[in-house]
Amino acid sequence: MFRETITSADDSTEEGTCGEADALRLLGRAVRLGYQVEATRAGGAVVVREIPACTDRWQLPRRHTVTVEPVVQAGRVTGVNRLDLELIGGRGGSWLQGDRIRAGYLNSIPPGAAGRLIARGLVTVADDGVATVSLVARLAMLAQDHHTETREPRGYVHPADIGNTVSAGLNKPGGRAGKVYDRSSVASCSCRGWSYPAEDREDARRRAHEHRQEVTAALVRDLGSEAG
Ligand SMILES: [Zn+2]
Repeated sequence: MFRETITSADDSTEEGTCGEADALRLLGRAVRLGYQVEATRAGGAVVVREIPACTDRWQLPRRHTVTVEPVVQAGRVTGVNRLDLELIGGRGGSWLQGDRIRAGYLNSIPPGAAGRLIARGLVTVADDGVATVSLVARLAMLAQDHHTETREPRGYVHPADIGNTVSAGLNKPGGRAGKVYDRSSVASCSCRGWSYPAEDREDARRRAHEHRQEVTAALVRDLGSEAG
């Protein structure tokens, strides 16, 4: 179960709850329409739609935000959790048998661990006992795999230190003499496959969001095509 919060451009909010299938449909539609969708570590997602104002052309776009957060937060998905979830999401299908989860015909998750996965909302059990890796688990793992950072700009540096052979730096007395101001930053991600040299920290933060939105969109598209 997800708690849904809709914040309109005029700052009014509406709240409601929605199930897993509804949440996935909402995210799928948002990705198709090109809105910004970003998974959260709690196992939810934030959808942002920029609405350009038509009445005042100097006004910045206004934001319409939809947040879906699981009622029970996923918490950190550990390596052991991931192994169990991998078994549950495997080819043979999984189902609840007594208090344990049978994963295919060879594996099973013992009652204690199975109960915790279900209580944390990482595994969904349907009325017929079929167990699946939940949307909450998939969003949480994705967000935890893509933990981004931005580097603080170096500030005043000697031109040669940043490969600048043209500038002689500031003509000022004191510590800043001969130095230039380097406001460049780098955005990088814990997935190690990604980093971006940015103009400044604001740019780096924006790029980091874009990276997380790209990987979220890819996941949502995958899940949508699985669901048919
Ligand atoms: Zn990443």
